[in-house]
Amino acid sequence: MNKVTEIFGSLVFNDAVMRERLPKETYRALQLTIKLGKHLDPALATVVANAMKDWAIEKGATHYTHWFQPMTGITAEKHDSFISPSEDGRIIMEFSGKELIQGESDASSFPSGGLRATFEARGYTAWDATSYAFIKDGILCIPTAFCSYGGEALDKKTPLLRSMEALNRQAMRILRLFGNTEVTNVKTTVGPEQEYFLIPLELYEKRKDLIYTGRTLYGAKPPKGQELDDHYFGAIKPKVAEFMEELHVELWKLGVNAKTEHNEAAPSQHELAPIYTTTNIAADHNQLTMEIMQKIAKKHGLVCLLAEKPFEGVNGSGKHNNWSISTNTGVNLFEPGDTPYENAQFLLFLCAVIKAVDEYQDLLRMSVASAGNDHRLGANEAPPAIVSMFLGAELNAILDAIEQDGEYGTREKELMRVGVHTLPKFPKDSTDRNRTSPFAFTGNKFEFRMLGSSASISDANVVINTAVAEALKQYADALEGAEDFEAAIHELIKSTIKEHKRIIFNGNGYDESWTKEAAARGLLNLKSTPDAIPCLLDEKNIRLFTTHKVFSEIELRARHEIMLESYCKILRIEALTMLDMAKKDILPAISAFSKTVAESGVAKKALVPNADVTYETETVSQISRLSREMLDTIKLLETDLEHSATIPCVKDKAFFYKDVILTAMAKLRAAADELETVTDSKYWPYPSYGELLFGVK
Ligand code: ADP
Ligand code: MG
Repeated sequence: MNKVTEIFGSLVFNDAVMRERLPKETYRALQLTIKLGKHLDPALATVVANAMKDWAIEKGATHYTHWFQPMTGITAEKHDSFISPSEDGRIIMEFSGKELIQGESDASSFPSGGLRATFEARGYTAWDATSYAFIKDGILCIPTAFCSYGGEALDKKTPLLRSMEALNRQAMRILRLFGNTEVTNVKTTVGPEQEYFLIPLELYEKRKDLIYTGRTLYGAKPPKGQELDDHYFGAIKPKVAEFMEELHVELWKLGVNAKTEHNEAAPSQHELAPIYTTTNIAADHNQLTMEIMQKIAKKHGLVCLLAEKPFEGVNGSGKHNNWSISTNTGVNLFEPGDTPYENAQFLLFLCAVIKAVDEYQDLLRMSVASAGNDHRLGANEAPPAIVSMFLGAELNAILDAIEQDGEYGTREKELMRVGVHTLPKFPKDSTDRNRTSPFAFTGNKFEFRMLGSSASISDANVVINTAVAEALKQYADALEGAEDFEAAIHELIKSTIKEHKRIIFNGNGYDESWTKEAAARGLLNLKSTPDAIPCLLDEKNIRLFTTHKVFSEIELRARHEIMLESYCKILRIEALTMLDMAKKDILPAISAFSKTVAESGVAKKALVPNADVTYETETVSQISRLSREMLDTIKLLETDLEHSATIPCVKDKAFFYKDVILTAMAKLRAAADELETVTDSKYWPYPSYGELLFGVK
């Protein structure tokens, strides 16, 4: 155990290191920057940079990089060495305050949605002092935000920081109204649970679909899938255990609080959950986790698949975004308190989330939309594409009582009055947890379960933070002018429940009847990415983001474009990969197999004239029919792809990919998968699902 405490954060320039290495004044000033977002004096930045450099060099680093999260969804880095020529022709190791605070980056190849014309190809990266610098692969990584020269956000971190600030502003207004003068700021916290698959590296290397797209595009169902539920929380295989152990150590060194690891529902599927932390740090850590997982897996002869749906027929992978708000005094605002007053505050914040989720269902759905996640949402293994909330029986009863001016629980004949009555403690591990709900209250936090496993958690949290900030803003506006504060709160809570209770659903989200009921309630069902993304430009949503200064309208338009473009590009790569596999591997392989079968039939007949050749005849005929089907679909898909390139509007193009290209892809796959079931496995050019899913020893 001692070892863990020693290695934890050993590669992080964290508070302990700063306290030890920085002059007192500098340390204090930096603390103000980190905790309160105060501007850091550039002169102090030089002192910090120097200390950081010395520390990094002692740890073996020779280079530094501004580490950022462009809209590709993964992280980017450009390494510069600390080396600087000195006058006597030798070198010295240097790192200035300016280099720490701001970096320039020729970023013309990152997606910008037209924000950055190529003649203005430079972007700049700016230090996010609230997320500690760390050393990865001998490189000092400085977490940064990435903007254009005009100041437009080109990354996922800038809007996230802005949304946290927006929520802080509004939440502080509410806390002040409750007479809280102690708290100086609030931050949202997130603990993202990460699902992934592990498969043998040597099998991965034999599959172009996995290599190019991260998921299988062909593959007949194996005789056994996850129907026995024997993998979920099952014993962890030795090879996987070794991987997990090293993964934990590497993450701990980077200060990532990796806490639990267990097997998931599908064979070879696993989950890692960290202890929650401040949202922007959680986002950085989750990116690091995904990167390190893939790196460590390779070292163990494994490949870590982060795609949302790597295999058809077994569960896909998601990411559960556990979200809460906590004050700088360490209070979780979603923790019901002991006094009626604290409870009123809890209920008000709770209602703000209910209102936010209902009013911005579209944006929440949009924030998790991707080509990969479309295979998951609504597929009876993940939450449906319809956003709804689960609060649990106890909390529901309380809200009902408030709404109806009714009685609650044991307080017979007494009306439930906010600000007068206390609430019971909610069991944090209540067994009635609803696992099918997209947005569940789980005792003292909300769990948003729609995120895809490969996604950055930033997009979803930008929406949650901003939507909740808006609800709190409306509450604060109403309460600041109220004559009777308690009565006003009671009314606000009551009216929120009345107006937004349609979003609360406690039943089974996988059930088909829910789709009908949700429609009757007027809830949105945005089934696919092209259905979901355009809402970003709806007037109400532009107003939301611009009011809270999270996105400008220009930034929103750029993001809309990038997301739809990326959807089309991903599907294009998948379609091209399928064509390549079909033409170069599958069709030639089955042609050869069919020749062998045909020849064997002929040989049998030559030897024994009345021999039975039903197997040979039927197989050859089935192969002949299916390969013809494949060929026709290949031609169709090629024509469709050519056509897609001529569609000028990106939204139309995205719908074309969804409606036409995906349909052709499914048809091609169906024929190939059927062929796989009749082909001698020696001839089939790829490892089977069975081998991939059960191949790790
Ligand atoms: P599970 O949902 O699997 O039962 P837990 O409820 O214990 O597991 O926690 C799931 C995740 O929620 C963990 O990453 C945990 O750190 C995180 N979490 C717990 N409390 C909070 C909070 N206040 N804010 C954000 N995340 C939290
Ligand atoms: Mg969970």
